[in-house]
Order: sequence, then structure tokens, then C-alpha cells
Amino acid sequence: APPQLADSRLFRNQAYIGGAWVDARDGATFAVDNPADGGTLARVADLDGSQAEEAIAAAQAAFGPWRARTAKDRAAILRRWFELILAHADDLAALMTLEQGKPLAEAKGEVAYAASFVEWFAEQGKRIAGDTLAPVAAGTRMLVLREPIGVCAAITPWNFPLAMITRKAGPALAAGCTMVLKPAEQTPLSALALAELAHRAGLPAGVLNIVTADSERSIAAGKALCASPVVRKLTFTGSTPVGRILMQQSAPTIKKLSLELGGLAPFIVFEDADLDAAVDGAIASKYRNAGQTCVCTNRFYVHDSIYDAFVRKLAERTGGLKVGSGFDAGVAQGPLIDEAAIAKVDQHVQDAVGKGARILAGGKRHALGGRFYEPTVLADVSEDMLCMREETFGPVAPVVRFRDEADVIRLANDTEFGLASYFYSRDIGRIFRVAEALEYGMVGVNTGLISNEVAPFGGVKQSGLGREGSVYGIDDYLEMKYVCLGGI
Ligand code: ADP
Repeated sequence: APPQLADSRLFRNQAYIGGAWVDARDGATFAVDNPADGGTLARVADLDGSQAEEAIAAAQAAFGPWRARTAKDRAAILRRWFELILAHADDLAALMTLEQGKPLAEAKGEVAYAASFVEWFAEQGKRIAGDTLAPVAAGTRMLVLREPIGVCAAITPWNFPLAMITRKAGPALAAGCTMVLKPAEQTPLSALALAELAHRAGLPAGVLNIVTADSERSIAAGKALCASPVVRKLTFTGSTPVGRILMQQSAPTIKKLSLELGGLAPFIVFEDADLDAAVDGAIASKYRNAGQTCVCTNRFYVHDSIYDAFVRKLAERTGGLKVGSGFDAGVAQGPLIDEAAIAKVDQHVQDAVGKGARILAGGKRHALGGRFYEPTVLADVSEDMLCMREETFGPVAPVVRFRDEADVIRLANDTEFGLASYFYSRDIGRIFRVAEALEYGMVGVNTGLISNEVAPFGGVKQSGLGREGSVYGIDDYLEMKYVCLGGI
């Protein structure tokens, strides 16, 4: 185990199926690397589709007894899991910084955020309730029961290696479902550490199974999960193209789906905004996790009358962000996840500059080399640039000038995406008008940070289906059953 870990047993490199740690049947492993230096951290079991099917069978066997337990019983186990996650927060954060790269302070923040979903849904699970309806005929009664969907499959991304797991496993397990989870190939160590803590919390064998696989075998595992008639629901967080594939693969078995896909978040600063607050919000929403979150601002729209002041302040603050290893003190931005991520960011910057954008901060690979990129601000940006059409998923802030409210709303909505959006204004009429006009699942008004366990997180249009977190989040793991009683 890496020296950063106090509890070396949190460092796992085998998959977790039916409560046991298992190798790939053919002994295959894949490398997990440290994005800060490219060094190999571990070799992890590389499971194929047939072992994903074994995990499904384990989840199926565990489902009956797990759903039969009381919600209170399940909640007690989840509560212990929550407490263990917090008790091992330092180790989980270190492991995350090692394999994902985010600054340690951000990783600690994510541990707390991830734990909050387990706590919240442990509580919500106890509040699942049905209905008694007014009958339409004498001598009858009509009931609505709410039951767990069954075996669920989850496929999760690398940008939030813990929270994207607990946001799915929390409600699923609290509702009485069991789960097979395939974590991102870049960040399986965080997922396995979570499983180790769930095991210690007393989660019964088979209730949560972790199938690890490299990028190639992940596709096979994904196919097995989609094709299985036993798996009643698939929940996925990742890119829109992969979401489409999974939706297609799930069609033959008519699976229920929760999809949390890409975004192209606009961030609008109106002329009546508090400029300094808007710059603070811009920094928080743009550079968190080096811009690698689906709710990170992708494009800024700033009113003509304050444009020059805004870009000057934003560039000044951006230029001051310290880049380096997530373990170094004061670092605000770590490495990007892989070479493909760096190449895409650089392509977006080059394309914008080629079409007339001005670089006000950053604009190139960082002197540290490897996967480090300079936090970048681009001015004089126009709609034809790649960074305005595609999710950059990196530390680039393109800023467009606008003059008219109706115009900027049209531009903000002119995309197939509809996840997060942000705007700054102090005019109460405008705040309601714009919040209602934005075709997005989430709107931040005078804030760049919107995610927490109490809020319904999710998108409209091609940003996805369903909501995670909140009092609504558990509904995605429940089915309604109507019971009609006659002869009473
Ligand atoms: P990102 O852009 O965050 O890497 P992806 O959508 O590529 O997002 O990947 C998110 C998750 O989806 C990862 O766990 C990855 O292994 C998985 N994945 C990628 N392609 C496929 C596929 N064709 N079938 C099943 N899972 C896939």
C-alpha cells in the first residue's frame, strides 16, 4: 500500500463479488496510474463479461433476504458505513488524490460529500411509504405499495471516484435493491476501499458487488449488465455518447434508466451583478477538479458594459491559481486525468485562438509537463469555436460578450445539453425570468456551487434522465405496485 495510507487494508486490488475478494479468472490485471507523475499505483483485477454475470448472480441471490429486512435494519448498516467513511476520511482522500489527481483539500471535501449521500439515504429509506386510495366501488380497497426495483447495475466515472458511487449505492441499498457496480478504470481503488468499509459495516454478501475492468473489458462488462434480464435498472454517470450506447443496449430488456450525462454549462453575468461575487463564483465553478466536472462552467457570457472589468479580474485570479501535485500545500489545480484530456483541452484552446480569441491567462501545457495544463482565460470568444459547442472538461474559461437578455438566453439554450447553468444578477424580476427561461435541470443564481445531498441533481434534454440525491432520489430505485382488494 502507498505510504500515505494509515490503514493499509483499505488498499485493495481485487474485485469484490458475493462478499469475497476475487481475481480475474484468467489472472488478468490492469494498471492504475497516478496522473501527477504517470507512475503505476497498483495492478487491479481485470474482469470479463462472464465474471460480471457472476456478480449479477450474487446480487440476485442477495436481493430476497436484503429486501425482506426492515428499512430500519438496512439504515443501521448504512449508518455504520457512513461513520466508517468519515472515520477513514484521510485515507480515502489520499487514495483519491493518488489515482485521480485532485488537490487533497478537494478530495477531503469529496469524502464528506460522498458520505452525506449514505447518511441521507439511510434516513430516507425509513420514510418510504405507500398510499391508500379512495375506492371506486363498494366492498373494495385500493392500495399502492412501493417496492425495491431489484438488482441494479451502476457504471460510474473517474471525476468523483467516491461520490458518484454513494449517490447511486446509497438510495439503491436503502430502498432494498442490490447492486453490481463497475467503477471507472482510472479510479477503481477508491471504489474498492468503499467496498472494504461496507464489508466492515456489516453489509451482507452480494448486496454490493464491485466489478473492476480496464477500458476494453469495461465494454464487455457493460454489455453483460445491459443484456441481463435479472438487472432491472441501470444507473450511469458519464459522457452522453456512452449514455446513448448503454440506453441502446438496455432496450432489449426494457431497463429502467438513470443517466447523468454531459453538460455545457453557461455562466451569465448581467450588468447588475455584484462583479466580485461573480468572479468568485466563476473561479469556483470553473476550476474545481481542474474543470473536470459535468457541472463545471463551459462558457461564460458577460454583459458588454462590465466585460472588460470581468475578464481582467478573472484573468488575474486565474493566473494566481497554483498548479501542482494534489499533495503539495496551496495547490488549487492538480493534473488532468489522462493524455486524452490534455489533448482535448489544448485542441479547444488552439481552435479558439485560431478563430480570433485572445489569451488572457494560461493557454498552454504547464511547465511541470505531463498532464498539467495552465488555468486559462480566453476573451473575444465567439459561438463558432469548439469550446462553445463541446464540453471541454478542463481548466479553460472562454468569455463571450453579450448585450441583450433575450439574446443571451437563446444562446445559453442553444445546445443539446441541459444540466447545470449559472447566472449573476441582483434584479429580482430578472432572476425569476431568467431562471424560468433556462432549459436546464439546475440553475445556480449568484452562486457557482450547487451540489449537495439535499438537492435533486440531474439534467434535461441530452444531459440525462432521472434525479440523484434529495427526497426524490430514492424514487428512481422504487416501483409502484397497485393492489386492488375486492370482496370486503
Ligand atoms: P468519461 O468521459 O467520464 O471518461 P465515459 O462515459 O467514457 O466518461 O466513461 C464513464 C464510465 O463508462 C466508465 O466507467 C467507463 O469504463 C464506462 N464505459 C465507457 N464506455 C463504455 C461502454 N461502451 N460500455 C460500458 N461502459 C462503458
